[in-house]
Amino acid sequence: MQHTAHSTQHTVSGRFPLESLAAEAQAILAKYEQRRAATLPLLRLIQERFGSITIEAEQWVAQQVGVAPSHVHEVVTFYSLFHQQPVGKHHIQICNNIACALRGASNHIAAISERLGIKPGETTPDGKYTLSTVECLCACEAAPMMQVNDRYVGPITPSTIETLLRSPESLTELPLMYQGTVGGVEPVISTRFATADAEKIDTYLRDEGYQAARKAVTEMTSDQVIAEVTKSNLRGLGGAGFPTGKKWSFIPKQSAKLKYLVVNADEGEPGTIKDRYIITKDPHRLIEGIIIAAYATGCHKAYVYVRGEYAQSTRILQQAIDEARTYGFIGKRIFNIEYELEVVVHRGAGAYICGEETALLSSLEGGKGFPRLKPPFPAIEGLFGSPTVINNVETLACVPPILRKGGEWFSKLGFGKAGGTRLFSLSGHVKKPGLYEASQGVTLRQLIEAAGGVGDGRAIKAVIPGGISAKILRADEIDVRMDFDSLLAAGTMAGSAGIIVMDDTTCMLKALWYASKFFGHESCGQCSPCREGTGWIFKIVDRIMKGEGRPQDLDNLLGISQGMEGRTICVFADAAAWPVQSYIMKFRDEFEFHIREKRCNLSDHRPQTPDIRMAAIH
Ligand code: SF4
Repeated sequence: MQHTAHSTQHTVSGRFPLESLAAEAQAILAKYEQRRAATLPLLRLIQERFGSITIEAEQWVAQQVGVAPSHVHEVVTFYSLFHQQPVGKHHIQICNNIACALRGASNHIAAISERLGIKPGETTPDGKYTLSTVECLCACEAAPMMQVNDRYVGPITPSTIETLLRSPESLTELPLMYQGTVGGVEPVISTRFATADAEKIDTYLRDEGYQAARKAVTEMTSDQVIAEVTKSNLRGLGGAGFPTGKKWSFIPKQSAKLKYLVVNADEGEPGTIKDRYIITKDPHRLIEGIIIAAYATGCHKAYVYVRGEYAQSTRILQQAIDEARTYGFIGKRIFNIEYELEVVVHRGAGAYICGEETALLSSLEGGKGFPRLKPPFPAIEGLFGSPTVINNVETLACVPPILRKGGEWFSKLGFGKAGGTRLFSLSGHVKKPGLYEASQGVTLRQLIEAAGGVGDGRAIKAVIPGGISAKILRADEIDVRMDFDSLLAAGTMAGSAGIIVMDDTTCMLKALWYASKFFGHESCGQCSPCREGTGWIFKIVDRIMKGEGRPQDLDNLLGISQGMEGRTICVFADAAAWPVQSYIMKFRDEFEFHIREKRCNLSDHRPQTPDIRMAAIH
């Protein structure tokens, strides 16, 4: 424990009355076992109250949490959601990654920029608007989309832009686009997505809510719960696919230290939207999964690390936690037994790398999102140096039905070595983008067809099957099943099940440009092969885009990407290397054409709806 006797009285003179935050700061500090873990929430509080984070504010936070001011400064400069300068009253952040680009984001950025008379990164002279471009906001189904202050808004249309410029307060949060099941599968996770007021505890209780948690903690031993989950063949649905029961069994039964459950809700993989749906639409199911997982592993404290941009989801989840506490499902004696469980919602601050589990722990402890070498694995030495189990939102959402209906039932719904179903996010050039639930044995083609296929007269050119890190598949490879093992055998991965479809108007060089821009932006910079490799990859791809490609560029790109694999602290470098390798290997002719002719091979191709075609923004 690192409790230090720091007063919340601020002794640093500054522009802002920081002492007015003392009571709120105390409440935040009280949530954490170690004060420095309150760094991000305190910085957020200051920014929300005063608009930016000054040097004086950093010093004040440093005093509160007991670290050097330089530590707080490097945290502020690491995360994209923290500002050292005030932004305009309405901060417009337009997604400029691949799913939004495929649907014309660049045109909208240009249009808004022209109307406001400012470039991205600038604020209007009257201080009303700041325009920014950001990497993926994980609302790819509503592409092209933007965030205006806390609100997600999309898809952007000319009429949205008019509202943005005339009465930005009246913009509404984008609706969830749950599209249903595919292949007649029995839904497991999305059963309540169409229910009115599903996020409220009354409706959840009506739908058998908290019965599984009650059964687990009052009738079962922790070993029995783990055995049932093991029997279900539930695999981690954040992307790694590790068997959940086995993961839980790694947590030592006896520990002198507190054990922790950490929920990874830092959804950030471009193409992925699923966790936002679960948290927003069915937060009590997640909380029930947390209770069961915590009980099974002997944890009395759970932290839910939610992506910083997910303001609405965070509010809904906190409200649900408060409701659950009122009903005695969270708190000192849950379900009237001698078991205490606290659940704390912790918001990130804008860094994709925090989705990596050890980076998430570093961030939760109040530092930069730096991944750590493994071993030691989090099960032995995780949060605050204690045994920690880390589960994804969707994984935990599967746990209550497993306990209610049995591991065998869940296992039979599955395919191959994975039990149950999965949520698939579909975006890009499909007619009906959104979230679908299907068996993991569904094929990629079936999912794309369920999403209406690509536009009339167009053909599929390429598909990213599991988030931007996954190796791309050509149109002739989409009969693959979507379970972890089948995709691995096809040379790619299931990842986060974020599917991005590209039709035949898509320039693959431009697609790789977006992928390499993303990885160059998001590398944490600790390892030279990753930091330098992602930077060089982007520079070379960008140069080819500008018509300045050189004959050796493709081999250099492949060589750099191979040098990044397996040589770094975390798998981010590998994930950054895979798109480079697969795009070039599968579409080498197209890349060579760009280098040789110094133009796009699709430039003569004039699509019918230029604002939603990538070739048109080339
Ligand atoms: Fe950071 Fe990249 Fe190294 Fe991972 S591989 S620790 S993201 S530099």
